[in-house]
Amino acid sequence: MSSNNFLPMPDNKGFFGEYGGQQLPPELIAIMDDINNAYLEIKDTDAFKNELADLMTHFVGRPSPIYHAKNLSEKCGGAQIYFKREDLNHTGAHKINHCLGEALLAKHMGKTKVLAETGAGQHGVALATACSLVGIKCEIHMGEVDVEKEHPNVIRMKILGADLIPVSRGTRTLKDAVDSAFEAYLQDPVNSLYAIGSVVGPHPFPMMVRDFQSIVGIEAREQFMEMEDVLPDYLVACVGGGSNAMGLFTAFLDDDNVQMIGVEPSGKGLETPDHAATMTKGSPGVIHGFSCYLLQNSEGEPLPVYSIASGLDYPGVGPQHCYLKDIKRVQYETATDKECMDAFMDLSRYEGIIPALESAHAVAHAMKLAATLDKDKHILVNLSGRGDKDIDFVAKRLNLE
Ligand SMILES: *Cc1c(COP(=O)(O)O)cnc(C)c1O
Repeated sequence: MSSNNFLPMPDNKGFFGEYGGQQLPPELIAIMDDINNAYLEIKDTDAFKNELADLMTHFVGRPSPIYHAKNLSEKCGGAQIYFKREDLNHTGAHKINHCLGEALLAKHMGKTKVLAETGAGQHGVALATACSLVGIKCEIHMGEVDVEKEHPNVIRMKILGADLIPVSRGTRTLKDAVDSAFEAYLQDPVNSLYAIGSVVGPHPFPMMVRDFQSIVGIEAREQFMEMEDVLPDYLVACVGGGSNAMGLFTAFLDDDNVQMIGVEPSGKGLETPDHAATMTKGSPGVIHGFSCYLLQNSEGEPLPVYSIASGLDYPGVGPQHCYLKDIKRVQYETATDKECMDAFMDLSRYEGIIPALESAHAVAHAMKLAATLDKDKHILVNLSGRGDKDIDFVAKRLNLE
């Protein structure tokens, strides 16, 4: 994995500047430290690196290509837009990159089970896939509301052999699923590993998930140089927890001439409560064992958040993003539901690529940006996933039937 001179991050307590860490009781800190120590011990061994690299090539289908979207660029009338095609990975998104890493880590640590929560089911499906491949048990906690809403993903997880635990407490959605999965994990932390679905949670997860995702930017930097003989002027990625964005950005952090933009969902508008624009509207707080920008009420409780893309509606955000915002290395922008839908249709109609609604937020901002730039500028967008999962929703919303 790449090392960045620019950012010796995180420190050994898991802090990126003032963000991250382990905001947990001492007994849980001990458990997280065990995972950290095991990870640091295993990650650079030949056995682990070779097994992961082999699966990335032969199972996931890496490297994913970079594609020059000439039609879309021409429509925007400015800079050239390129896509890093994470949508072409097996299972259709970037999540398989860190799920394979986490499942393999669990195996190399001698664990017998991997546990996680899932919201829309994307993380659950990617993890169930990785676990059946690696040959380790998988237990996914999912709110009952989501179980009903996300039927195809529930079935996928069951076909893949995961134990699906419906969660009936609270609002029966993602936050309750996190609580339930974490409690189950604490009953047997010796034999199981909790697999977080983004660059969030207590140390070492933001670091570990970033490291597993950083293959995206390592490949992209080399591929882009080979294609165009220059580095991209801009990188653009959508930000929910922030894993696909960190995956693309990390290898470029030392390249001062490469500007980076994370795009959050402004939903029905920043002036309404219906958004999940954590960087734009949040303030420093604590959620799920780490500190970060947070959409919170006056008591520090996370606010209910909303996005048309279920993978983006999280009230917190990865701690490294918070640091990169403060030092102004990465700029954070927003795209509304409407802009997301327009970009979803434009990419489908102009390029024959149906993007995930999450990724369409990044596409929307890239199109806006391209129109303001000269034709010789290059924008590289992380196309984090494919949109097959979203077609029923889109059909209803646009009355296509
Ligand atoms: C889950 C998901 C996201 C959001 O997660 P990050 O950790 O912010 O990358 C983005 N795109 C797709 C396709 C997803 O499935």
